[in-house]
Amino acid sequence: LPRLPIFEAIKSHNRQSTAIVHNPSGRTFTYGELLHDVADAAETLKEYAEGKKLVGERVAFLVENGYDYIVTLLSIFANHSIAVPLCTTFPNHELRYIIDQSEALMLLSSEKFQEKAAEVIKEGTENKPVVAVEKIKEGKKSSEHITLQEPKSKEGGMMLYTSGTTSRPKGVVLPLQVLTAQSHSLLTAWNYSSSDRLLHVLPLHHIHGVVNALLTPLLAGSSIEFLFPFNAQQVWERFASPFLPTSTNEKPKEKITFWTVVPTIYSRLLQTHDSLSPELKDGIKKALAPENLRINISGSAALPTPIKEAWTTLTGGNVLLERYGMTEVGMALSCGLSFSDRVDGSVGWPLPKVQARLVDTENGEIIKQGEELDEDGKERHGEIQLRGPTIFKEYWRNAEATASEFADGDDGGGKWFKTGDVAVRRIVEGAGQSEQAWAKGPMYFIMGRKSADIIKTGGEKVSALEVEREMLSLPEVSECAVVALPSDTWGQKVASVVVLTKTGLSAGKGGKAWGPMDMRRALKERLANYKIPQDMKIVESIPRNAMGKINKKALVKEIFGV
Ligand code: ATP
Ligand code: MG
Repeated sequence: LPRLPIFEAIKSHNRQSTAIVHNPSGRTFTYGELLHDVADAAETLKEYAEGKKLVGERVAFLVENGYDYIVTLLSIFANHSIAVPLCTTFPNHELRYIIDQSEALMLLSSEKFQEKAAEVIKEGTENKPVVAVEKIKEGKKSSEHITLQEPKSKEGGMMLYTSGTTSRPKGVVLPLQVLTAQSHSLLTAWNYSSSDRLLHVLPLHHIHGVVNALLTPLLAGSSIEFLFPFNAQQVWERFASPFLPTSTNEKPKEKITFWTVVPTIYSRLLQTHDSLSPELKDGIKKALAPENLRINISGSAALPTPIKEAWTTLTGGNVLLERYGMTEVGMALSCGLSFSDRVDGSVGWPLPKVQARLVDTENGEIIKQGEELDEDGKERHGEIQLRGPTIFKEYWRNAEATASEFADGDDGGGKWFKTGDVAVRRIVEGAGQSEQAWAKGPMYFIMGRKSADIIKTGGEKVSALEVEREMLSLPEVSECAVVALPSDTWGQKVASVVVLTKTGLSAGKGGKAWGPMDMRRALKERLANYKIPQDMKIVESIPRNAMGKINKKALVKEIFGV
């Protein structure tokens, strides 16, 4: 039997238990079916390769969220190849960039995307990968035996592209051992189990969707229900359905126990909640209560306090758990399972197996425990640096970036990955008292990206994230982005781009829209003067990528023309 931990784990699950459910159809696939189909697909993949070496080679695929995606992904792992999942909504030229940049040996596609895949290849990619535009799951149906092989090398794994928030997406090589270490770390921290049922609404070409919400629950034997693309009404209905009266001929749905998404999804759900029927609302309230929805997680971008608060109210006290991670490292910091370990604005502690340190952005010193304040009593900003078995291997074909993103360790324990994100550490009273051994000591608070969120104005450092948090707490502000603009006087000045709420649209003088002066007045009680944005531009919407993130460099150019 193969010794890849992912297959070992899946084989240990009850074969009859549900692995995957498609929504809204309700179509179900068991772990037994999954193993069988993966074994078949792995063989078919070899045939497609026509004798070419598959071990360590990149295999790109364009498959919609659901069972076929998983069969494809695991069949690539079974051949010790590197899976390159593609975003199904990318325009052709973006897909071509990734296929070329990753030097994919082939492009697999499900039936739905055959035409798109064929076009991408026809229009030319530098390496002309073999196209196998077929439904690979329907490979030759072989025996009952699971014939996955022993790993011959450790080269298999996955290559994910970063969200491209700050620059062109970089290919991040994540060997299988790294993925497994990331999953084990999360398993320990969040207690995934075979009695968990996840609702999955995220794209599957990002670490959040594929590691936290897919590979880890597969390792644990949980059931994963897909509902994609995200649709607020359908999500609400799925959550509520086990708690609504059903007609007699309908099999009642199981309750959702586990859910991990990004802040924009919480915000969109909350926006639609008001207009739902009282019956549905009642079902939702029960479904989201802590005794039913065991854990609700937010990450990939900072969680605004009003969203956290509104969710807590709606669910009768189910506090959102915030965590921090990135493509290069999986999840690195997380709040704990106990409610008192889910502190506002904090991303918690280093997860099991993850080593973290803060390196002072001013003087390059390591900020030791107990040295979190400087001589003036101000909090020291430090870059988060990480190491351990969960860290990626390299940026694909970018030795320069790989080399420059790692810092030497001075203790023989290996190099540290420089995340580019800045944080402070604080002791939080009452937190860190649970049985979770890793959730101890001072907690981390993210201040933002070194490159875009730390604004230096008149010798002071301002965290854009901190200002955004305060702005979002105002009833007039629906969305905002705080950015740095060049200033002759201050070096940089704090500016903001704002989307107003309905309230905000008439909260100004004489019932007019709220303006920069109103905002400054409202923020005076909440923020030191130098942190309050000097410029404010009101817009109808702020452009975000698929993970709900804002490219601030592009935004500044578009809105302020600098
Ligand atoms: P690129 O590297 O291409 O610019 P990206 O950094 O957005 O894109 P990802 O790897 O998907 O690509 O995102 C990781 C980043 O998301 C982190 O470096 C951090 O800045 C941000 N992030 C993740 N979780 C949180 C969180 N809880 N709070 C604040 N920021 C977060
Ligand atoms: Mg990044």
